[in-house]
Amino acid sequence: MTLDPDRLCVHQVTLMKQCDFAQSLDAFVRNGIFKTAVWREKLDAIGTQEGSRLLKDSGVDAVSLCAGGFLTSRDPANFQSSLDDNRRWIEQAAAIGAASLVVITGGLDEGDRDLAGARKRALEGFSQLIPEARAAGIRLALEPLHPMVCGFRSVLSSLREANDWLDQLESDSAMAREVLGIALDSYALWWEADLEAQIERAGQRIINFHVSDWLPDTCDLRLDRGMPGDGGIDNLRIRQWIEAQGYNGPVEVEIFSERNWWLRDPNEVLKVIKERCATAI
Ligand code: ZN
Repeated sequence: MTLDPDRLCVHQVTLMKQCDFAQSLDAFVRNGIFKTAVWREKLDAIGTQEGSRLLKDSGVDAVSLCAGGFLTSRDPANFQSSLDDNRRWIEQAAAIGAASLVVITGGLDEGDRDLAGARKRALEGFSQLIPEARAAGIRLALEPLHPMVCGFRSVLSSLREANDWLDQLESDSAMAREVLGIALDSYALWWEADLEAQIERAGQRIINFHVSDWLPDTCDLRLDRGMPGDGGIDNLRIRQWIEAQGYNGPVEVEIFSERNWWLRDPNEVLKVIKERCATAI
């Protein structure tokens, strides 16, 4: 079924190089888009208070704040300071009216080869943040990323693992179920052989849905994402699987594109996104 335009959300990062915080909101409003995911880099550049004011004045809703987490360091002082950062980001997310803080685990410290240890620390870190997130009314959306960035961005690489992690966290803490969720990014998970079954297993855990496309000739591990419809990901089918579990939240276009979309006029980028809504999202 065609996506209801009211559900369209465009991440600020999709206009990362063209727009500052205020300019991105102007571009969204000009193009009839009233949902965004706020990026910390943009928000920090102007401050939380000013960011909240601009969101309110523009009528654009912040769906989430991206991205927190980074809880894999084996250095105890670094690990603690990351927890403190996340506590601040939870407060920031609450101040801008976002429903969730999207969290990625982080990768391996330099010289670290203990992948299991890094995963254990990330799990421990998320569990420690549950009470603060709950008090602030913010959900933590765990975002697994593609295995190719396991070493430097995320030691959580599949929806299957995310489900396993949430099974464990929920069995350890009664609050986990209401606080923790999953951000499903089609770019990160489209390859997963039993994705449909894992989406069924996740059920209502999926609270954020990020879309872009995997270009057949992709040339960068992170910064060469395609526009939905230009690559190999069946975003429409993945959306149907998620909606079969009751999801009717925003569909969030998140494109990192150093060589293409970040070089184009914001109005053109947003116009193409809206066109693709009818065909590829
Ligand atoms: Zn994402």
